Amino acid sequence: MTTNPVGTAQNNADQSKSDFDFDAIGIGAGFAGLALIHYLRETGLSVRILDRGSDVGGTWNWNCYPGAATDSESYYYCLTFSKELLQKWSWTKRYPGWKETQAYMKFVADECDMWPHIQFDTEVVEAEYMADRGGWQVKTAGGETLTCQYLISGMGMISEPMIPKIEGIESFEGSIFHSSRWPRDLDYAGKKVAVIGSGSTTVQMVPVLAETAQNVTVFQRTPNYILPAMQRPMTAEWEKEIKDNYDAIVQKCRDHSFGMAFDSPTGRTVEGTSLGEVQRVFEENWKGSFRWVFETFDDLLTNREANRLASEFITTKMKEQIDDPEIADLVAPNVDDYPLFAKRPPLDQGYLKSLNRHNVTLVDIKKKEPLVEITADGIKTTQNSYEFDIIVLATGFKAYTGALEAFPIRGDQGETLNEKWQRSSDSIMGVCVAGFPNLFIVTGPQAPFANLPTSIEQNVIWISRCIQKMRHEGYNVFKPRIEAEKEWTAHTADIHNQTLMACGDEVNSWMMGANRDDKGPRVLIYFGGANAYYDRMDQSADEGFPELEFVKLDK
Ligand code: NAP
Repeated sequence: MTTNPVGTAQNNADQSKSDFDFDAIGIGAGFAGLALIHYLRETGLSVRILDRGSDVGGTWNWNCYPGAATDSESYYYCLTFSKELLQKWSWTKRYPGWKETQAYMKFVADECDMWPHIQFDTEVVEAEYMADRGGWQVKTAGGETLTCQYLISGMGMISEPMIPKIEGIESFEGSIFHSSRWPRDLDYAGKKVAVIGSGSTTVQMVPVLAETAQNVTVFQRTPNYILPAMQRPMTAEWEKEIKDNYDAIVQKCRDHSFGMAFDSPTGRTVEGTSLGEVQRVFEENWKGSFRWVFETFDDLLTNREANRLASEFITTKMKEQIDDPEIADLVAPNVDDYPLFAKRPPLDQGYLKSLNRHNVTLVDIKKKEPLVEITADGIKTTQNSYEFDIIVLATGFKAYTGALEAFPIRGDQGETLNEKWQRSSDSIMGVCVAGFPNLFIVTGPQAPFANLPTSIEQNVIWISRCIQKMRHEGYNVFKPRIEAEKEWTAHTADIHNQTLMACGDEVNSWMMGANRDDKGPRVLIYFGGANAYYDRMDQSADEGFPELEFVKLDK
């Protein structure tokens, strides 16, 4: 076991035997980075993971705002390659906070001796495919140039912040920052705090902030369907039940449409069920987490009428928790406005109740008092001027593609991913992109939206099987086939359009990139079921990766 946090390029443990510095360079030391180290090291590759942060964690290293926690239940929000580790680690609650999840990731890195493979405080600023060598050259902000045969993005699908263009944003004289860049030493006790945005991040953050801040003001544009998390501690009995059944839990995730250990599909649909029975099933399953969406009826995300009943049930439950009927009407969406899951619903650990506090204010910036500007001492709307010490931009992310577009990643024709994805974010199963040989992406655009550790592990298994094949058969370059990309893109769009998630462009949903001001809405997610996607990946590997052309390069 080692805890050396900073590996060095000279480290013999991961030095490549080929003419590259490393066989594989991965970017990002979150779940993807850890999975890459495990699976590629098993394949005999030299692996170097670069991360601009100073610790493992990825999302859980950056999103350290008060209240940050997983929305997946702890015991399946983890890597599953080692049965021993699953037994050894103990979670303390149903939804661990960011610190606990990061501690788990450090535990994995310790137990599996992963630290020597990770180079922290290293921001990649450019990557270019070298056609003559069949590999990649990677440049870092520190001036280092590294080469590798395979470049693999593990940068995460929700990691590049979306900074809103609000007049006067530069003029604020207090602390202003994006929620995912929360200053670790910030003391907000007794301070006046503004939160712009009302998505999952805000819902997690506000009840915790409100405990000690002088006041918290939330500037809300679009209301969300907010589901209860129903947090609870892990008990000895519950932990035993989990650990006695881990194989089945892991299999459940692999076989589930969202990669979660849920009991669905249920074989029940709202269509054809009496209204009384629908209400009974909704009520009986009101036990917290996204389970409610998946363990009640199978047609909530495809049938508008079923979705409407679910939406009404949720908004009624939301409003019951709020004392002031005006606030209740403001925070709960009107079910005619958009369907449940056109935006990703937040999970509540106290947000709705916190709106009853004297020191929490919800401001309607959509209809009642739109934002005008940020000033030196606060925020001006069309109706009021508010003074603040701190402004939190909980304004979301450039999902799926943002991290890959933030610096030039140049393929074999000199085009960058950013340029290629101007109109449509095409890929092959979210893992490969035509025009970008020997580049893999873990959970890229057009991959499913699912319990991420499950998807990450499935992606990394596919990647390592692909590399194994190439090594075994003497290939050194793979070129993603454009026909395969077109086929996957069309298939993904076809399925997307059959779901109610396709309404996301009407409500700025990040799930369609509709929250971005620099690109138009698009199909970003494969909604055909994560399990069907994992099957397709297995089939691809079994059939020798027909989506890729393999080349033996004479060097
Ligand atoms: P988000 O859901 O995209 O919400 C961003 C919020 O900012 C929205 O309310 C949006 O309003 C508002 N906004 C954006 N630009 C604005 C502007 N110019 N003026 C005023 N308001 C503006 O972002 P998020 O809350 O950070 O969550 C993003 C995703 O990250 C989640 O859906 C989830 O998948 C993930 N996440 C996960 C967890 C977890 O699993 N524990 C926790 C937090 C986040 P509109 O809706 O009107 O655009």
